Amino acid sequence: MASAPSDDMFDEFLSQRGHDMEASSWEDSYNKKQCPECGGLHDSGAVECTICGWSPAR
Ligand SMILES: [Zn+2]
Repeated sequence: MASAPSDDMFDEFLSQRGHDMEASSWEDSYNKKQCPECGGLHDSGAVECTICGWSPAR
């Protein structure tokens, strides 16, 4: 797994730009949730990506 510096810092950086381009929500793919970060597929009940740790929470 790649080293993730600081997710909080990164999220803050994104929100401060006030420009919500993408991410921050799951992609829909065949009735499943797809992580916008790594493309991993998860059940509709998933709350965070178990592959890269991404989560739309906030
Ligand atoms: Zn992911």
